Amino acid sequence: MSKNNEKWSSEKLLYFEKLVRDKIDSTKEELESTKKRAEQMRDASQNNAIYSSHMADASGDHVELEQSYYMIARLEKFIKYLSKALQMIEDGTFGVCVMCNKMIPQARLEEVPHTTKCVGCKERI
Ligand SMILES: [Zn+2]
Repeated sequence: MSKNNEKWSSEKLLYFEKLVRDKIDSTKEELESTKKRAEQMRDASQNNAIYSSHMADASGDHVELEQSYYMIARLEKFIKYLSKALQMIEDGTFGVCVMCNKMIPQARLEEVPHTTKCVGCKERI
C-alpha cells in the first residue's frame, strides 16, 4: 500500500456529492432571483428615465444594476466550478491534491469543493 495514494471513502464522497449538489441548487436559486431583480431594476430605471428628472437617483439604479450583473456572472462561474467538482467526484480525482497527492482537509473542501490543491501547495506556487 502506497501512502501517496490516499483516497476518500465512498461514504465521504457521497457526502461531498450531496453537499456540492445542494450548493448548486441554492446557487441556481440565487442566480434566478438575482436575474429577476436585475430585470425589474432595468424596467424600473427605464420608467424612471421617462417620469423622473432626478439624475442622481437614476445613476444610483445604474450602479445597482451593474452590481447585479457582476453578481450574476460570479454565480454562473461558481456553478461552473461546482459542476467541475461533481465531475471530479465521478473521475475519482476529487479532494486529493494534484501536487503532493495528499488528501485535502474536509473543512477546505466544504468551503471550496472544486479545489485541486491543498493549502500548503497552493501557497508554495
Ligand atoms: Zn498538496
